[in-house]
This record gives sequence, structure tokens and C-alpha cells, in this order.
Amino acid sequence: MSDPSERIAELRETIEHYDRLYYQKAEPEISDREYDRLKQELEELEREHPQAAAAQGASPTERVGDDRTEGFATVRHLARMYSLDNTYNQEELEAFDERLRRRFGEKDLRYTVDPKIDGLAISLVYEDGRLLRAVTRGNGVEGDEVTANVRTIDSLPDGLGADPPPDVVELRGEIYLRNEEFHRINAERERRGEALYANPRNLAAGTLKLLDPTLVAERKLSLVVYGLGHLQPDTIRSQSALQETLREWGLPVVEQYWVADGLAEVWRAIGELDRRRGDFAYPTDGAVVKLDDRSLQEEAGATAKAPRWAIAYKFETEKATTRLQSIEVQVGRTGAVTPVAHLDPVSLAGTTVARATLHNEDEIRRKDIREGDWVVVEKAGEIIPQVLEVDHDKRPEGTEPFVFPTHCPACGTELRRLPEEAVWRCPNAACPPQVRRRIEHFGSRACLDIENLGEAVVDQLVSRDLVRTFADLYRLRKEDLLGLDRFADKSADNLLQAVADSKEQDLWRLIHGLGIPNVGATTSRDLARHFHTLDALAKASPGELREVEGIGDILVASLRSFFEEPHNQQLLEELRELGLSFGSSTPEAAASPPQTLAGKTFVLTGSLPNLSRDEASEWIRQRGGKTTSSVSRKTDYLVAGDNPGSKYDQASALSLPILSESELLALPNELSSVE
Ligand code: NAD
Repeated sequence: MSDPSERIAELRETIEHYDRLYYQKAEPEISDREYDRLKQELEELEREHPQAAAAQGASPTERVGDDRTEGFATVRHLARMYSLDNTYNQEELEAFDERLRRRFGEKDLRYTVDPKIDGLAISLVYEDGRLLRAVTRGNGVEGDEVTANVRTIDSLPDGLGADPPPDVVELRGEIYLRNEEFHRINAERERRGEALYANPRNLAAGTLKLLDPTLVAERKLSLVVYGLGHLQPDTIRSQSALQETLREWGLPVVEQYWVADGLAEVWRAIGELDRRRGDFAYPTDGAVVKLDDRSLQEEAGATAKAPRWAIAYKFETEKATTRLQSIEVQVGRTGAVTPVAHLDPVSLAGTTVARATLHNEDEIRRKDIREGDWVVVEKAGEIIPQVLEVDHDKRPEGTEPFVFPTHCPACGTELRRLPEEAVWRCPNAACPPQVRRRIEHFGSRACLDIENLGEAVVDQLVSRDLVRTFADLYRLRKEDLLGLDRFADKSADNLLQAVADSKEQDLWRLIHGLGIPNVGATTSRDLARHFHTLDALAKASPGELREVEGIGDILVASLRSFFEEPHNQQLLEELRELGLSFGSSTPEAAASPPQTLAGKTFVLTGSLPNLSRDEASEWIRQRGGKTTSSVSRKTDYLVAGDNPGSKYDQASALSLPILSESELLALPNELSSVE
């Protein structure tokens, strides 16, 4: 057996690394189940070898994962926030019950069983019934103040429906993202060539820590409140009474919870929860069993990490063993080269699985996954199946370690890997599998906005070899289009006109359309504003790029890698010759409309008759104004459409001017005629 001290040190280091990725960056590299296994191994070793463990100082098993990040004020919680002890097995749940029964000398204890929501913990403080602040768990003692971001959640009441309200109450809840919202955001990110989120929890965690609440508002976060930190005056005696009070106060609560007398009833409730959890609005990965009586909770107390009066029972993710036929390396839209396992089809969590992600080269090497191996697959976060591990006992003779290609399997260009990234990329913008998705992205509304260049048209253009690069779009002739399905004289003219018009689009749209990895719409705008021309941007040194706010090492590397690639340089030359406007060397010519709304802050609510929220925000921004997500004294105007939310009442209470869409559109004229 290996030296326990060494293994303890190794595990602690590994776990601390994964904690940082998970809590601070919201970018885990391993599944929760794998993480929990490492932690369990460490806990067992620390129990068996207490001296070796103590000699190495503090352990991640004894504290809550710390989510505090830069950019937020740190606030102390009124009552400490804990994690939960986790178990996947029946015996540990029995031991939990027995410990408590022995302590209180009772035959049967009353528990509540509620769904464990797979999101991230939040603390909400209401003073005199008004929401004062929202704070993340942080290190348990103090966390990040994220009130502005949490206020974007529709179901969160600003005031408690309590009469009279408590002087102060600190509530505990979970912020999560509905599965549909998760898929919607990822699909949009995919279209824009941005990295995808692995599961709803990470996306929710990443969103809550965005520094701009308007961006948070674009992703619909949700909330469930289930717990109490501090209450003054404290009148609530039990967990079940708390659930009812929360509901009465108008807070979003769990759809169902169970009151269970004794362990047998707890089991029944857990079984029922497991059967019903697919119907809940939130992702649920287990049950939380809590002592019902709050005075007993208090007596039971807590360790440094978790209360002794509650435990989470996590449902096992479904797993299956199957043979890995082959590993295919696929090229995505941004050139990311991803290994995919082709499997003997196997049934898993209600679907037949024939493919699974292998993430990246390092992951294949770490798990030593080979073609021909028997592998265990699981659905992590219920989204994409992944290969968990290899069954080494079943490894057939003659398998070879997998060799990751050095050149793009589609076009043969040498692959590149940026030091900060785990993925290899094909840097050739003309690489065929990338072309179709790139062209779609280029013509999309968020980029050059070429009307009529939908997916079906792009598909035909690319499969008939009429379009290989963005430049080919501008070389299309009418006779090319007339050969396509459902194209007549008029539709061909319309598309050609739309393509021609796009030559004059704003520079930022062109930058965004190029599909440079990690460069989204906001970054493209910042770059266009700073450099004014594509030539200046293409030539910019790393130092010059860093002068743009928000541009760090990853973006610098991404931009330099793109502009240094000879294929891309040639493409840009062709686009120039075809007459695309690369911006202008004089800032005046690149100018936007007069900045009549400069310094004004707007809040949007309800649905406007013609403009989407994004379009209205963009319209305001182009004229120098700003949109924020919540109404405050700093707001200048509320723009209200149909079915306005609580913001309407808040704006009325502050006597703010409330504008309709047409009044908004007329505002620049009105303001300039006043001045
Ligand atoms: P946890 O998520 O396992 O459980 C504690 C949390 O559950 C509480 O803080 C609370 O926010 C939440 N919760 C949800 N529903 C609840 C309810 N009804 N009642 C009470 N609490 C409820 O613990 P954690 O400390 O937040 O995170 C640890 C877990 O995170 C690990 O077990 C692991 O699964 C995951 N993790 C994964 C990685 C990785 O790299 N994949 C790294 C670190 C942590």
C-alpha cells in the first residue's frame, strides 16, 4: 500500500484544485460523483490516520468550499452558512438517525425530507420586510454581496407578505437555472462560437458572479427558499412551520416536502421524491433530511462544515458498462477538436447511448482510455453522457494508448493549444466542418445580419461547394442561387441584396462574425470602439490589446493566434477586395448616432410592441444611454410595455417618468430640442 501521508497530501492538493475550479470559476473538470469519490477517500484516510492528517494542517474536508471572487463587496453573514454532509448509502443514513436518537434519548424522531436543489446557496436578508441584501455562501462566515444580480430574479419579492414583518430575517435558499433555460443559453452560445457550459449549476454559478446585472437579467435565474439563518423575533418552532411561513410570505418554496416520523417514513419519502423529482421545476440530485424541531436542531449544533441535524442523501447517477468501439476526433465551429467515444449502444437513464464525450486529450490520458476497452458511462448532470472509467480487468489484449492527432483530421492543418486551454484547436478558418457553422454565425442577427441566409440555405451553399469562406458569399451570382431548392428570381435577388448590404455593417459586427474563439458581441464592440479599423486590430500587439478594458491573456492569445494564421490573413485580404467596410481610420466616420441619451439610465419592463429587450437596450446604448435591471433612485426612465412587472410599481413609487416604446423612440428629439 502507498504511504498514507503521501496520498493524503496528494488528495488534498487535487481537491483544492478542483474546489477552485468549481467554486470560483464555475468550470469543473471532473464530475461531481468523481469529486465526491476523491473526497470520500480522503475522509477515510484522515479517519484511519489522524496523526498523519493532523501533521499536514487544515484539510478541505473540514471547511466549506469558498466561492468568494474579486469584484464584489464581502459581507458577514448574521448566522454562519454551512454545507451538508452527503451520503449515497442507506447505512450512513441509519447511522445519522441513530446518533441523533441516542443523543436525545428518543425512539423515533420527526424529520422533514425536502428535495435537494442542484444550484448554489444564497442568503437573503430582509429588514422590516424589505429585501436588504443577497450574499453568496463564501467561506461560510462571509460571502460576496450579489444583491443587484439576485434582484433580476422574477419570483423574488422585494417585500415580504408578512403583517407585521419580522424586524430582521436572514433566509437561505438556492439559486438555480431551469433545464430549458440552460439549453437555450447553450444553444445561443454555440451559435456565437462561445464555450458551452457543462451543466445548469455551473451556468447559474457563473451567471451570479457576472459583474453586469443586465447580462444576468438576460439569463433567467430562478430561486427556491428553504431555510433560516437568523430571525428576530424568533417565533418559528419547526422546519415544517418554516416551510409554511415562507409560503405565506410569498417566497418561492419547494413544490413538495414530507414530514416523516422515524426512519421508515424517511425512506418512504425519499423513494417518493425520487419518483417525482423529474416533475419539479429545478434540477434535484438528492433529498435533504432535517430534524423538524428547531430547538433540537440548535442542541445538535454543527461541525465546522455541516450541521449535525441534517444530511443530504444523494441519488446515484445511472451508470452502464459497454465496449468503446472507437475514438473519433471531431472539429467544431470554433475549431475546437473534441474526442468522442463511439460505444456499443447501451441503455442509460431512459435513453440509448451510443456516443459519449471524452472531454480532451488530458482526460483520455488521465483515465488511459483506449479503443476496444470496456468502459463505465454515466450521465453527468443529466446532460451529456461521459466515460467515467475503464474496466481494466476486461481490457482486451493488444490495445494501444490513444494517440491524439497533431494535425486537423479534416484539413491537415497543424493543431494548436493555448497554454491556458485544455482543448486543441484547428486554426484554419477554411477547415470544411467549421465552414458551415461559421457561415451561419457570420450571417446571424448578432453578426452581419444577412436576411434570408438561414440554416437550410447555408447547408445547400456549402454542400454544393458554392461557399467555402465568408468571401465566397460575396462572390455568389444569381445563377448559383437559382439552382438551389425553393429559390426563384425574387428570393435570389433578395439574398444577393442582403449580402451586398452587409458590406456596410458596423465594424463590431464583422469582428463578431469572424468567429474568433472567446470573442463575443460585447468584446467585439469594445475592440471596434478602441481600434476603429480591422487593420489596426489585426496589427495590434499584445500590449496594445491589453489596453482595452476586459481583455486579458486568454483573449490576447486568441486574437493573436487568429490574425497570425496565414489562411485568415488571406481571407481578410479577399474581404477587403470584395468591398467590405473594415471600419474607418477616422473615428468620426465610424460614429454612432448623436449621444443624446448620454448619462441617462433606463430600466425596461414588460414586452414592447416592436423592439425586443435586446434591441431596445442596444438602441439606448448606441445613443450613449445605459440600461440596468433594477429600479433605483439613479434610474432616469422606466420603459414599460405590456404586462410590466413589479418594476412598474417601484418606478411609480419613486415618481419616475414612465415611457412607452414610441415615447422612448421620440426621446432623443425631445431632449435635443430642450437643450
Ligand atoms: P452540496 O451541494 O453537496 O450540499 C450543500 C448545499 O446544498 C447547501 O449549501 C445548500 O446550498 C444546498 N441545498 C440544496 N437544497 C437544499 C435543501 N432543500 N435544504 C438545505 N440545503 C439545500 O455541498 P456544497 O458544499 O455546496 O458542494 C459540495 C458538492 O459540490 C460536492 O459534493 C460535489 O458534488 C460538488 N463539487 C464538485 C466539484 C467538481 O469538481 N465537480 C468540486 C467541488 C464541489
